[in-house]
Amino acid sequence: MNPLSKSTPIYIGRFAPSPTGPLHLGSLYTALASFLDARHHQGKWLVRIDDVDIPRNAPGAADLILKTLEAFGLHWDETIYYESRHFNHYESALARLKALNLLYPCTCSRKKLADYAQHHGGGDRYPGICRDKNFHEQNDYAVRIRTNGAFIEFIDRLQGRFSENLNAAHGDFIIKRKDHLFAYQLAVVVDDQAQGVTHIVRGIDLLDSTSKQIFLQMLLGYPLPSYMHLPILVDQKGQKLSKQTYAQAVDQRNPGPVLFHLLQLLKQAPPEELIDALPQEILQWGISHWNPAPLQSWTQLCPSNGFVGLN
Ligand SMILES: [Zn+2]
Repeated sequence: MNPLSKSTPIYIGRFAPSPTGPLHLGSLYTALASFLDARHHQGKWLVRIDDVDIPRNAPGAADLILKTLEAFGLHWDETIYYESRHFNHYESALARLKALNLLYPCTCSRKKLADYAQHHGGGDRYPGICRDKNFHEQNDYAVRIRTNGAFIEFIDRLQGRFSENLNAAHGDFIIKRKDHLFAYQLAVVVDDQAQGVTHIVRGIDLLDSTSKQIFLQMLLGYPLPSYMHLPILVDQKGQKLSKQTYAQAVDQRNPGPVLFHLLQLLKQAPPEELIDALPQEILQWGISHWNPAPLQSWTQLCPSNGFVGLN
C-alpha cells in the first residue's frame, strides 16, 4: 500500500440521505453504488444526514436510515455528519459570496414567477426580476446568486461530457430561502468541502444541480470533486422511486437477497449461488468486481415485479 494513502486518502465518497422518511429501495441502491465505488478504490465512505430542510425532516427517520444501512452491512467511516449542526459553515460561505458582490435579495413570490413565465415563457428559469435590489432596502427575501455568463463543463464518469450555460439554463438561483433556511445547492457544496469529499456518486436526477454546485465550488475556491450520476430506479409507470411516490421502506429482515438483486440492477452480474450468501460475502464480491461501465446505457431502471421489498 502507498504509505501516503493513510494520511491523504485519494478517495472520499459519501452517501447523503435526507431524513424525510425511512430508506426506500431507490436510496439503498444509490447508497450501495457509492459504497461499492468507494471500497473498490480503497476509499473512505462517509454518511451525512442532509437535514438542512428542517420542516421536511421526519422524527426518527435519520436513526431508521442508519439502522437500515447497518442491517445491509453498509458500514461507514468516521462519525455521522448532520447538516443541521453546521449552519455556521453555510453562513460564512454566504458571507464570502456576498463579499464578491454576487448576491442579491429576491422578493418574488411563486405566483409572481409563475405569472411571469406564463406571459414571457422561460419555464423554471429565474428571469432576474430582482437583480438590482439592495439588501438594506428589503426584509422578506430569498438570496440569489448572479450566474452572469458562467459556462460550466465537466466530465461525468458515466454520462460523459456535460456542459451548460448556467444563466441560460437556470438563471440566478437561490442559495438562501425566504424562510431563512440554506438552500440545498449551497449546503451540499459546503458540506462536501468540509468532509473532504473527492468522489460523488448519486442519481441522475441530480445531474441538473451539478453545474450550479460546480459554479459555487469555483467561486468559493474549493477543489472540484469527480461526479458519477447513476440511472435511477423507477416504478412500472416510470415514476422515480422516492418518498414522494410512497415507495415502500426497504425490508431489512432478509438483506442478502435484496443486496443480490440490487447488484443485478447495478448490472454487476453476480453468480447465482451468491443469492444465498451472507450480506458481507455479497458485498465483498461486489467490491472486488465493481464495474459501473455497464450502467452507461441506462438512465432509468425498473426493479422486476415481486422484487424483495417492493410491492
Ligand atoms: Zn425576484
